[in-house]
Parts: sequence; structure tokens; C-alpha cells
Amino acid sequence: MCGIVGFVGNDNAVPVLLSALSRLEYRGYDSAGIAAFCGEEIKVCKAAGKLLNLIDKTQTVSFDDCLCGIGHTRWATHGKPDKTNAHPHHYGRYTLVHNGIVENEEQLKEKYFKSAQFYSQTDTEVIVRLLDYYASKGNSTPQALRRTMAELEGSYALAVLDSDNPGTIYAAKNKSPLLIGRGDGFNMLGSDEMAMLDKTNKFCEIHDMEYAVITNKNVEIYSFGAIAQERGFYISHQSVADAQKDGYPHYMLKEIEQQPTVVEKIANKYALPQNGFFIDDDVLSAIKTSGRIYIIACGTSHNAAVVGKEYFEKICRKSTDVCIAGEFVHNPPLIAQNPFFIFLSQSGETADCTHALSKIKALGHSSLAITNVEGSTLARRAKWHMPLFAGPEISVASTKAYTAQLSVLYVLANAVSGTNSGKVRDELCRVANLIKKACKLKNQYHFIAKDFFAKSNSCFYIGRSLDSFLCFEAALKLKEISYINANGISASELKHGTIALIDQST
Ligand code: GLU
Repeated sequence: MCGIVGFVGNDNAVPVLLSALSRLEYRGYDSAGIAAFCGEEIKVCKAAGKLLNLIDKTQTVSFDDCLCGIGHTRWATHGKPDKTNAHPHHYGRYTLVHNGIVENEEQLKEKYFKSAQFYSQTDTEVIVRLLDYYASKGNSTPQALRRTMAELEGSYALAVLDSDNPGTIYAAKNKSPLLIGRGDGFNMLGSDEMAMLDKTNKFCEIHDMEYAVITNKNVEIYSFGAIAQERGFYISHQSVADAQKDGYPHYMLKEIEQQPTVVEKIANKYALPQNGFFIDDDVLSAIKTSGRIYIIACGTSHNAAVVGKEYFEKICRKSTDVCIAGEFVHNPPLIAQNPFFIFLSQSGETADCTHALSKIKALGHSSLAITNVEGSTLARRAKWHMPLFAGPEISVASTKAYTAQLSVLYVLANAVSGTNSGKVRDELCRVANLIKKACKLKNQYHFIAKDFFAKSNSCFYIGRSLDSFLCFEAALKLKEISYINANGISASELKHGTIALIDQST
């Protein structure tokens, strides 16, 4: 998940763009770049690797009087993660950044640019070429943008500068996140609220297949059919102060140690000391009367979802399916009568989940999003939302959000089954205390890591029932963080083939 940002206003855009990009670093990226109008001229600066490389490079470019610009952290899908492929991309009148994937890149090249030379390996370059192609046929930039959108298959959030219109950012969106932030004398664009929170807390969403024309004073949003859209700005309750390392060497350690606080917070937010849960009655009755629950998630959230299935089936006797969001989009299961859908995601922006939600909505079903980010796409689009209350999770590897997902799913299953909320609250507080004790043992974990993992190139986490689901998550964490091959496996499955892989180095 890369990030895009834009700024047009009353201040030098370059430091604003760089600082907004730094708050999108948590999403992961391999290169970064910015483009800004310096007077009438667009200047571009790009660098492979960390944002610091880009920041260093911007010192060598005279970005004076830049009141309007765009920026990007790239996670390469097409082509090497190098400077040439880094965004912004430029052709003719246009310079743009893109988050997403153009699925019909080859067909578009074949149709419009058969003998043209492309300078990059990205799918994005075809977008900037198309824009310029349509503009060169006499279309205005909004017309060229619409015609380009009509040709593109796949996902995109775009921020575009037109050298003939300094002081304006054009944006377009389909299936990749994009928000507009409104300030006093400026307007911004960003992949999420976090990117813009130190400048503003007023946001509005651009919907799929819409485009926007943004200046320092105005934000105009249009449907694909060029009809102006009325869209209010909402106030975000997220705080940028939450996103600091607080003396920890890195975010992941801080977030692991925040788990007890998060679990206690969930107990306080959702379960009253006496009988009663702070959960929308409509959610509870929709689950009670549903024919089957479907939990849709990816990665770590999927590992939490399989535990959730166990809760719903064991605690409230509701049949539950867990679906990998990306699979659900391409190969949906047979849906039962009167289904209830739960979308589980830390960020609320996971593209596979937002695509699956669009599919569910198109079928006329309502759903509940359980996410950590209140203003996120899933939180806004689903009928109901239950926040995880975990605070910003900056580390790419999810830890506290996973624990929070388990806790919220546990509270929800108990609320549906009518358990006494005081009992659930006490249980969660006991769990929080146990996590505190477990965190204190971190030096011992260090020794285990040195003794075992350092010598192995393959690890198995083995457990039964709920423990085997925990093993899936533990293995994912080890792979993600240490690059050691790891598998979570049910103890009863090990003997059916996989045991063949175990040797001295396992
Ligand atoms: N598909 C584009 C590329 O590879 C954009 C990737 C991204 O979203 O960062 O350059």
C-alpha cells in the first residue's frame, strides 16, 4: 500500500508534502518523489529507497515559491523500485502520482501508443500518456481525465498537475483510497487522514469513479458523468500525537507493549461493569436473526477472523464462514439466506476488503466493519462500524490490532449470546494483566530467538484448536519480521505430509 499526498495553499508545499509522506511511511514503500509548481514551472524530485534520500535530494533543488504540489511513496507493482520508476511520472502537459494497478496497461499501449517509447517500466506511465493524448485532441483537463478514467481498468488514486493550470490539483479515484483535507487557506489530498492530521482534521472522501478539482480556495467533486457532487466535510477524532515512538527503538515494540492498555480500553468501551454492552442493538439483532455470519479479512486480520469464527460458533452457536477478502472478490462462496457480513481490517483501507465490500453492497447486503481507523473507507462505507480502539498502528507488522480484533470479536460474540457484560469485562482485564506479565519476559524471548531462530531456516508453530489459529499468526509474524520461513500448523495435520520437511535445521 503506497501513499499519495497533495497540497495547494498559502505555504511552501514542499515541507508539507515531505512531512505528509513521512506519516504514510508505515504503509511500506520502496521509493518516493514529489512534484511542485515553482511559479509556472513544475519541478520534480525523486529518489529510490527511504524518504530520507528524497529529503536530502530536495535540498539540492531550489523549490522556491511552491504553493502547489503532489507527492508519492511507491510500492512497486510494475518494474524495479528505482528512481526512474518512482513517481511522479511526467509526459507533455501532465505530471502525476498514482496508487494502484492498471490492469489493461498492455491493451492501452497496443491501442494508443503502438510505436511509442516508454521511459519507465511502470503501468502508471500509460495514464500520463493517455491524459496528454486526450488533452492534445482539444479536451480540457477535466474532460481528458474523464476520458482517461473511461479507459482504465484496475485501481487508481491519482493526483495530477497540469502545467497549463498552476495552482490546481486534479484528482481521480477508483478502488484506491483518497481523501481531501480542508484547511484555512489551503486544501490537501492524502491516502489517509494520518497524512494530513497535523494540518487539518476536516476531511471528505472522493468516491470511486469520481474526480476532483482542487485549488487553495475550492474543492469541486464531480461524478464520472461530470455532475457536481455535494459532499460535506467531517471532523476526524484521530490525534497526530498518538503517532510517536515515545522512546521505544521502533514502533513494533511500542505497539506490542501497548496491548494490555488496548485490551483494557476495549473492556471499558464495550462492556459495562453490570449487565449491558455498548454495542448498537441493531447490530446484535441483525447477527441474531442472520442465517450465517461471513467474516471477510486478509493477512493478520484473517488469522483473527478464524478465532472469531470459533467465538461465534462456540459462544453464540452461529454458523460462521471466514473468507479471504481477495478470494471473495474473484471467487465468492455460496451465500446463505439472510447473511451477516463482518469486515475485519486494521487500517480499514485494505484494498481486497474494500473491493469485497463494494461487491456485498451491490448485492444489497448490509455489513459491519471492525477497524482501527474511524474515518477509514470500510468504516464509512459499511452500515455499522465498531472501532478497535487500539490507537494508530504504525508498524507494518500488526500486533496490538490483532489482539484488539480478538478482544472485540470476543465481546461481540458474548453480547450476541447475552453473557453478563461484567463477566466479559473481568475476563478481558485478566487477559490484560497476563499480557503485561508476558511482556516483562521479553529478555527471555531474546535468548530463545538467539538460540533457536538464528540457527534455523525453517520453523513450525504447532498447536491444536484455538492454539493452532494462534500459530498461523505467530508464523506470519516470524516470516514478516525475520524473513525466516515459518508455518503455523495444526498438531493433527503435521503427520499428513508436512513432517517430511523437518530436519536438523528446523
Ligand atoms: N502500479 C504503480 C507502480 O508500480 C503504483 C504502485 C503503487 O501503488 O505504489 O508504479
